[in-house]
Amino acid sequence: MSPWQPPEGVTGEVAAIVVTAAAPRGKKYKCAMAEAIRARPDLRVRSGRASAKERLQHFTLGPFMESLDAVERHHRPLALSDVLGAVERNARLHDGLKKWTSDAIRRYMEVFNREHDTPETRLRHVPKRWIYRVEVCKPGERGAQAYEISAWGRCYESVDGRVRELRLIGIRAGAEPRTDAEIAIAAFVTARAAPDDQLERVRVVVFAPDSDEQATLFDDTPQRAVSAYEEHGRGALAEIVDGHGYQPGTACLRCAFAPRCPALPRANGLLGVDGVGRPRRSWSVTSGRAYQACPARAHLRDLNLPTSRAVEHSDAARRGRAVHALLAARHTDRADGPCTLDLGVDWSADGHGLTTDDLALGKAMLRHHAEVCPLRHLPADARVCVEPRLTFEDEQAQVLVIAEPDLLYRDGGSWVWREVKTSAREHRGGTDLLSAYPQLALGVLVLARGELGGSRARSRVELEVLRPGGVDLEVVDPFTPQVRQNAEAVIRDMVHRWRADDLFTAQPTAHHCARCEVAVWCRAKDELAAR
Ligand code: SF4
Ligand code: SF4
Repeated sequence: MSPWQPPEGVTGEVAAIVVTAAAPRGKKYKCAMAEAIRARPDLRVRSGRASAKERLQHFTLGPFMESLDAVERHHRPLALSDVLGAVERNARLHDGLKKWTSDAIRRYMEVFNREHDTPETRLRHVPKRWIYRVEVCKPGERGAQAYEISAWGRCYESVDGRVRELRLIGIRAGAEPRTDAEIAIAAFVTARAAPDDQLERVRVVVFAPDSDEQATLFDDTPQRAVSAYEEHGRGALAEIVDGHGYQPGTACLRCAFAPRCPALPRANGLLGVDGVGRPRRSWSVTSGRAYQACPARAHLRDLNLPTSRAVEHSDAARRGRAVHALLAARHTDRADGPCTLDLGVDWSADGHGLTTDDLALGKAMLRHHAEVCPLRHLPADARVCVEPRLTFEDEQAQVLVIAEPDLLYRDGGSWVWREVKTSAREHRGGTDLLSAYPQLALGVLVLARGELGGSRARSRVELEVLRPGGVDLEVVDPFTPQVRQNAEAVIRDMVHRWRADDLFTAQPTAHHCARCEVAVWCRAKDELAAR
């Protein structure tokens, strides 16, 4: 394979390759080119403009780590109560983040309470993060003179230097599990950063404040840590450092190369708002709806705080997910042609935990879908994209727009954007279609502006609503001036207040608070209840 080359617009000498143990995580949402550029911090993007800064802290774990540093520092540590007081007074933290941070710090102190430790087993905090660094005499194909690997977490060692423990910190216990590669790299960094002949034991544990305990990922000798790295880590890191290929998506928000990237579609003015001089952000219809319900809800979701299972996994939500999962699988595997009334004898919505009634309702809905399955009228080789992730950079708004239609397919030379909804009600209310389903409004704008290319002739937006007794299929023409104006108004209304908002103040209402997945972090709802 030819050596990695920086893309057009990226300049500079590569003095060092710098990676972290977390680099192999979340590949699905990462972009290989962005990761390879990030691994070369000496490179510069020509004409890359710095975005304005957010007023609120958007790095969820930042205040948690800083607070623990203050409690655990060797010289004049702060009392826990003082640190929690400082969190409450910190004007850069949203109230929901204050609550999460305070709870997380207390939980951490409980889980790692070592009051029964002896002087031999006691661990002390290592303030300087462990980094493995090696300098090479002769730069290889990558041109680097040094390689650095770090592991993001809290570092501890025993007083006698025989034990080291790296505590990886997560926000949600049920998040994506750590891979063998990440664990091996973390153990390697723990073993080999600042080499010490005394070291006998290397531990890597993971802690998430919403779990009852830490989980041990690695507990072995330094030699085994090095072997694990050779087996699982080294190749994974090499693949990342030498990565090619673009994958536009949420990663584009933090990518320094975004202003020059040839793979990031530009859709200036798509949202119809002006954000010049404002912090660059990402937006989707889902986040826009959360903001409409309550600004704090959108912000706390954006911080990725743990959410309520009861809200996110209501019967209706589970049924909707099960139906969408089967449709996505069938439309992806087109070997059997279009969907039919035959669901397959074993469709039982495995893993979705449906009640008997919801399973029956889901089956009825799937059979109704067969009447309007778009594959019925398409040639076998027609392009069909199932739940494609579309990304557009709206520079005027300073917003990265993310959309995921349920289905995008070609009808002749034209793109058709289809959304599929499930509803236990038999009839739609009288509300305007685009206001009720803003995904359609975004689809209208994307197609009307020709952002996907293709012919206008049969380009359209479709809404399929699966109901207990049948299916509605609504067709929207994006090229009708009135429809386009309506779509512009719907999206602009959703975005303009959010675009100007820096503080995301909670706006509690009984209706929305009862359905809020991040309510556990919100103290404003308690004030509403007390009124
Ligand atoms: S802007 Fe997006 S697609 Fe382009 S390199 Fe960065 S992350 Fe990848
Ligand atoms: S509980 Fe209510 S006030 Fe709090 S974030 Fe949720 S919707 Fe907003």
